[in-house]
Parts: sequence; structure tokens; C-alpha cells
Amino acid sequence: MDVYERLISGYREFKANYLGEENREWLKVAGVRQDPKVMMVACSDSRVHPAILTRSALGELFMIRNVANVVPPFEKDHGEGTYHGTSAAIEFAVNHLHVEHIIVMGHSGCGGIQSLMDQSTVDDAQEFSFIRPWMKIVEQASEFTEHEKVTMSQQSRTCVCEKRAILISLNNLVSFPWVRDSIKEGKLKLHAWYFDIKSGNLSEYNLTKEEFEEVT
Ligand SMILES: [Zn+2]
Repeated sequence: MDVYERLISGYREFKANYLGEENREWLKVAGVRQDPKVMMVACSDSRVHPAILTRSALGELFMIRNVANVVPPFEKDHGEGTYHGTSAAIEFAVNHLHVEHIIVMGHSGCGGIQSLMDQSTVDDAQEFSFIRPWMKIVEQASEFTEHEKVTMSQQSRTCVCEKRAILISLNNLVSFPWVRDSIKEGKLKLHAWYFDIKSGNLSEYNLTKEEFEEVT
């Protein structure tokens, strides 16, 4: 069976089993409107699938997936011709769906972050890329002191960069006025997650300790 046929066969199984008797009642409600309590910002990476990772059902996660799970800062004065897909999804989730949690989930071995780490080797004259200006949003995450460059391995610097980038995105979330207001009113909580693909371990950012802690 080729890859595409496997998808169709997977769909048939989903229709027959998942949408069978046990979810009949749920379908009636979901057919009218969605009511997720959680928005997740995750990477497009095929190995980091939020619904599979959290065993979530249809209707539970309002998803944004983009390169390197980046949240841009709030920009009010954007002109015609600029596109803010991620910001539009945040607005919809907070103002219309009233989600109670927003989780930004980064991961190990992120291609977007790797492109940021390799930036010094990229020739500026190369043709236009959508990825480079997008990754510029979290560029600060890839800045290391000369001491760090000498004492830390390339691998640990990349890991630190991946985690810092999640926190920059979390910070950018707070720059959206309606996100800030909802947090102040106690209606919304923000979370930072980091998924290590090789071990399958998930870490959660502890705001008090200012570090990621493994979820056990
Ligand atoms: Zn990624």
C-alpha cells in the first residue's frame, strides 16, 4: 500500500470506528459549534503531533502549527498585504472560543531552530526565503556569548535555543492586549512545553524555578 492509499484506508477506519456509536452524541453537539478549552501552538514537524501526544479527542485542541511553533509579537499597524495567520488564530481562540489554556510546545531536533543556529553559514545573497524572516522573530534565542560558544556543545546550544524560542513566543503572546487582559482576569493560563523526540519525554516550564521540568 502506498502512502496515499494508507491515508484513505486510515480514514475509512476512523469513519467506521471513531465516529461509531460511542461518539454519536458528541457529533450532534460538535456539528453545531466547537468548544475547545485549549489552544496549542506546535511545530509543523511530523513527529510532534499534539493530539497523539496528549491523547486528545476531536474538539479538544484548537491548533496552530507553523515552522518552529513561533508566535509573532502583536502588530497593530500592519498594512494591507501583510498576513497574520497565527495572530488571527490567537484572536479567534481567545476572543471567540474563550480558551482557558494556551500551550506553546517546542521540540528537539527542530528544523526551524536549526536554520536559525546555522544562520552564520548562510550566504545572504541566497534567493528569498519565507523561513528566514519568520525565524527572525525568535532570533534572540540563538545568541550565545563567546564563553558559551566554547564551553557548550553544539547540541546543547541547539537545545537551549529551542527552549529559549518557546519562551520568546510565550512572551510575544502576552503582547496581544486580549491575551494580557484574559490572564489578568484569571480566565487564561499560558504554558510552555518541550518535547524530546528521542526519549519521548515532555518537559513543562516552571515559572518559579525558571526552568523546564520533566513531566513524570
Ligand atoms: Zn520544529
